[in-house]
Amino acid sequence: MRVLVIEDEPRMLELLRRGLQEHDCTVLTAMDGEGGLEIAASMEFDAVVLDIGLPLCDGYDVIRALRGRFCTTPVLMLTARDGEDDIIRGLDLGADDYLTKPFSFAELVARLQAITRRPRHEMNSAIQAGDLAVDVLKRSVSRGDRTIELSRSEFALLLLLVRSAGECVSRRSLMECVWGENPEVGSGALDVLVNSLRSKIDLSSRPKLIHTIRGSGYLLSSSMQVAGHSR
Ligand code: CA
Repeated sequence: MRVLVIEDEPRMLELLRRGLQEHDCTVLTAMDGEGGLEIAASMEFDAVVLDIGLPLCDGYDVIRALRGRFCTTPVLMLTARDGEDDIIRGLDLGADDYLTKPFSFAELVARLQAITRRPRHEMNSAIQAGDLAVDVLKRSVSRGDRTIELSRSEFALLLLLVRSAGECVSRRSLMECVWGENPEVGSGALDVLVNSLRSKIDLSSRPKLIHTIRGSGYLLSSSMQVAGHSR
């Protein structure tokens, strides 16, 4: 079993690495979310063990980015927070299971075996936000009864926004989802792409769905008022 461990605490990381190796796992490690996503993009894994509290981009961002790329590798979250909301949030974003620290190694291994044996969960093919409908498998988009034709890049952008509906998606995440890690395009390309997407999604329909969060990124929301944010 090949496992990617993303954990920022060196002692915990070493413990996980050694323990998993003793259970015949091949282990690759990253100490922050961005590094983990880079490794995950470069090879296939049987499972990802993911700490939620990470520097740069946190565990939630990692799950969102993985699932946004249609990566179905099972993810086991490690969380120091035992708040139900945090766990539900992670599972909603596409994590397969979670463990609250501290945990026993036997339990970790058992959970990993369980999630890797499960059939990979089907990505929900149809996503709805207000009157906007996106079908991931058919790659079709419509608002009300209006069918919308999108380019490949526009579709990738919309998909990430709609999967994160109600939350601000950072410019960096959006750029990576469209152009990959270390995009060679300037950040102006993102504004051009968003404007083009808006012209198709929002121009002749109300309410506006795509909102600009100044200095941060973009947010898709079907509610008329996005508190404190300007378009
Ligand atoms: Ca941590």
